[in-house]
Amino acid sequence: NTFNEADLDEGLKRNIDRCKYVKPTPVQRHAIPIASAGRDLMACAQTGSGKTAAFCFPIISGILKGRSLSGFSSMPARGAAVAYPTALILSPTRELSCQIRDEANKYAHQTGVKVVVAYGGAPITQQLRLMEKGVDILVATPGRLVDIIERERVSLTKIKYLALDEADRMLDMGFEHQIRKIVEQMQMPSPGIRQTLLFSATFPNDIQKLASDFLSNYIFLSV
Ligand code: AMP
Repeated sequence: NTFNEADLDEGLKRNIDRCKYVKPTPVQRHAIPIASAGRDLMACAQTGSGKTAAFCFPIISGILKGRSLSGFSSMPARGAAVAYPTALILSPTRELSCQIRDEANKYAHQTGVKVVVAYGGAPITQQLRLMEKGVDILVATPGRLVDIIERERVSLTKIKYLALDEADRMLDMGFEHQIRKIVEQMQMPSPGIRQTLLFSATFPNDIQKLASDFLSNYIFLSV
C-alpha cells in the first residue's frame, strides 16, 4: 500500500517521494508488482488514474536494476548516428507524448536515465539531435517513429520494454499499421526478451487482437 514496499529502485523511490506521491493509485497498486516481476500486462486505465507512473516506474526501475543504460548512440564512420533505446513508449498525440516525457523526467531525475520525445508536426532535426546524445526511454507517436526508423536513425533491436499508452485511441486515429511495423522491428532480432505493457481505456476486439499479437502470457488488469 506504499511505494516503499514496492520492488523499485531506491533512486526512483527518492524521486517518487520528491513528487509527494504518498500512496499508489489503484492501477499503480496492481500494475507495478506485475510489471516489476517482468510480466506482460494489459491494463484498463482512464486518464487521471495515474497510469503514466504505472508504466514508467517499472520501466525506469528495470533499466536501473539491469544497468542496461544504452547511454550513447553508436557513431558509424560515415553517416548519421543510430540511437538504441532500451524502452519505447508509444502514445497517440504530441500533447500526451510530451506529458509522458515530462513525467518520466521527474521520475528519472538524477538517475542517468535519458528520456527523449519524438512526435509529428514539428521539425524532426532537433528530435534527432537529442536522440544522438543518447536515449534510454523514447516516447513517440507512431507516425514520426516510422519516419525515424526509415531514416535509419533509430534501431529498436535493443528494446527491452514496450509500453502502449491509450492504445484504443491510437487505433481510432488509424495508427495500427504503423504500430505493427514498429513492433516488427523489435521481433526480428531476438523474440522473447521484450516486456510489453498495454494500456487502454476500452477493450474492443481490435485491442484484444493487438494484445494477443504483441503480449505473451499476459495478465489482464481492470480496476
Ligand atoms: P495520469 O493518469 O498518468 O495522467 O496521472 C494523473 C496525475 O496524477 C498526474 O499529474 C500525476 O502526476 C499524478 N499522480 C500519479 N500517481 C500519483 C500518486 N500515486 N499520488 C498522487 N498523484 C499521482
